[in-house]
Amino acid sequence: MKPHAITEAPADAATRKAVKPVICYPVEGLPRPDLAAYRAIRDDLETVDRVIVPPREAACWTVPSGHFFRIHSVEGPQVGDLNLFNASNVEERLYTGKTRALNGTHVGLGDQLFSSFPYLRPIATITHDTLDWYGFDEFGGSVHDVIGTRCDPYTHNLLSHGGQYHHCCHSNLTRAFARERGLSPKEAERHIHDVLNVFMCTGFTRDTGQYFMKASPVRPGDYLEFFAEIDLLGCMSACPGGDCSSEHSSDKVVCHPLEVEVLKPKRLPAGWVPPAVNGYDGSHGL
Ligand SMILES: [Zn+2]
Repeated sequence: MKPHAITEAPADAATRKAVKPVICYPVEGLPRPDLAAYRAIRDDLETVDRVIVPPREAACWTVPSGHFFRIHSVEGPQVGDLNLFNASNVEERLYTGKTRALNGTHVGLGDQLFSSFPYLRPIATITHDTLDWYGFDEFGGSVHDVIGTRCDPYTHNLLSHGGQYHHCCHSNLTRAFARERGLSPKEAERHIHDVLNVFMCTGFTRDTGQYFMKASPVRPGDYLEFFAEIDLLGCMSACPGGDCSSEHSSDKVVCHPLEVEVLKPKRLPAGWVPPAVNGYDGSHGL
C-alpha cells in the first residue's frame, strides 16, 4: 500500500477507513510469566560466564535453563543483532514474527520470546531493561525491535548495485555460528534467522510506513536481561551500523563491543516450570 493512490475512492471510503482496529492476537488468554517471581531471585546472582562481542563481529554463548543472561552496553552506544537457539536442537530457534504478533513491534520488561514451529513456546523472558524509560518517542520509535531482519550482504548488494561487504550482521552471525558448531559457512548460514535488535531504536514512518532507525539511546552501563526458559545458545553480532544513527553495511561508522554476562541464581523462580513444546498434535487435519 502506497500513500499516493491512483484509484478512485468509493463513496463510503471515509466510513470504511473509520472502522476501529482490533488487536490481532488478544493475549489475555496467553499464559503470562510471573514476573515478580523471576525478579525476586535477581538480587543474588553469580556471574558464571562473560563473552565479549567485538565490533563488526559476532560471538556465541550458552545459558542453562533457569539462568539469566544480560547484554551490556560497554564503551559506547552499540546495537546488537541477537539470534537464539535451543542449545540441544538448533532447529528450534527464535521466531521474531510470532513474537512480534504476540508482544508488539518492540519487546521489553515481561515480554517472552517465542520459538519457531512446531515448538512455539517461550524460550526467554525479559526480566530487566534499563531502557524501559524510553517507551515510544514522538516519531513512533522505540527500542529492542522484532521487526528488522538483520543487515545482510544480499540486500546490500542490491541497494549498492553490486557491492560486496562481509561484515553485515548476517555474515558475522554465520561465521560465529559456523565456528561454534563446527559447520561450513554454507551449512551455518541456513540456521541464521531474523533477529531481536537489541538497543536499536526503530519504528515506521507515519506517512509512508517505512522502517526507520535513529541513534540508539543506549549508553555504557545499560543492559537488557533475560531469563532462559530452556537451555539456550545465543549468537549476537555487534552491528556494523554502530548506534545505527546513519548507515550500516559499511566500515564507516564508529562501532563498539557488547558484553554478554551469564548469571546463575541461587534458586529458581517460585512456581516456575520449564515450558513444554507446543501442544498441537501436528496432524493438520489429515
Ligand atoms: Zn546489523
